[in-house]
Amino acid sequence: MEKATPQKMHITVKILIGLIAGIIVGIVLNLMGQAEIANTYIKPFGTLFMNLIKMVIVPLVFASLVMGACGLGDIKSVGRIGGKTLAYFLVTTALAVIIGLIIGKVFNVGNGITLPTDASYEAPAPVGIVDTLLNIIPTNPFNALTQGNMLQVIAFALFVGVGISIVGAKAEIFKQGMDGFAEVMYSIIGGIMKLAPYAVFALIIPVVASQGAAVLGPLFMLVLSVYLACALHAAVVYSLSVKILGKFSPIKFFKLAAPAMMFAFTTASSAATLPFTLESSRKMGVSPEVRSFVLPLGATINMDGTAAFQGICALFVAAVYGINLSIGQMLTIIIAATLASIGTAGVPGAGTVMLGMVLTTVGLPLDAVAIIMGVERLMDMARTTINITGDMACAIIVAKSENELDEKYAQAEVGG
Ligand code: ASP
Repeated sequence: MEKATPQKMHITVKILIGLIAGIIVGIVLNLMGQAEIANTYIKPFGTLFMNLIKMVIVPLVFASLVMGACGLGDIKSVGRIGGKTLAYFLVTTALAVIIGLIIGKVFNVGNGITLPTDASYEAPAPVGIVDTLLNIIPTNPFNALTQGNMLQVIAFALFVGVGISIVGAKAEIFKQGMDGFAEVMYSIIGGIMKLAPYAVFALIIPVVASQGAAVLGPLFMLVLSVYLACALHAAVVYSLSVKILGKFSPIKFFKLAAPAMMFAFTTASSAATLPFTLESSRKMGVSPEVRSFVLPLGATINMDGTAAFQGICALFVAAVYGINLSIGQMLTIIIAATLASIGTAGVPGAGTVMLGMVLTTVGLPLDAVAIIMGVERLMDMARTTINITGDMACAIIVAKSENELDEKYAQAEVGG
């Protein structure tokens, strides 16, 4: 993974071609009313690829974070880098909700829609903040690993990583073994990623074929608002923070982030995109220590697109019921959506499930979520793209502040 591959920029073009070709085929199948063909014959190839990716996620996150945490050296650096990372995550997430609320207001989302009577949706039972925090520490880390409980896996990995640096010489063999294990995971991923352009093609067709353009109808404004908020957040917050805090060209940033962004758009999963964000960050010149610390963490807890989406949806639901939100309620939405997005898993659809908690916190009815469900996937694609772009922006900024950013490397990658 450390060496640049000869076809470095090609993968972006290939994925883009796969994506566009898939969208075209999807539209054609949709117009012909043949969505079933896509589901029966094309979807399994996408599922095969997703299974391959899922196979490596837990071991990858674990090994990569252990190496990240012990690579950072002492607890002090882990604390310092962790603090910077969390600060960036929290501030940008809150900004995303604010951007979402502004756009939602400007576009008047939810106006002119009436709730169908058969709408039904069950919100997850809200979990208290104390329980949420307590749950982060796994009482049985092996259970956490087998069940893929990412927050717990992260917590355990950080303890092991810091433990390795404290123990020192005696843990050297274990550290080398873990390093080797991480490398093996990277090499498996390298192989899987070569299939990405075809996977993107196979994954996008069933989505477009079954959703079509018609479903958009009355929900068009909602979907448009989410896309606009996401685009604005990337164009303003990421560009500026990468430029000002990371002293890194935003154009170069988005160029190198493109393969990961397209993959996130197609799969709607931050977790599945992790191998791609790691690769893009490597090309940006972010050191292995910083990227293997920031990115797995970000894929799990940093969800700006999801937060913006939840803010917009809260406005949408209020409008559908003719409820006027007070300033106090707006502030509650900002806090609730920021926290809910942290608790959102990096898998498709998770943000809509957590939306139930945001609505409950603000005191809004939940039934309207059922209407949102129809266009949920389309919005998930946009928000996931932004979620993982935020992780990569954070990696650059943290790396820069720690002197762990090799700009010449990024220059060569873009130039080549
Ligand atoms: N699908 C999103 C992600 O993986 C989470 C969400 O549903 O908003 O980042």
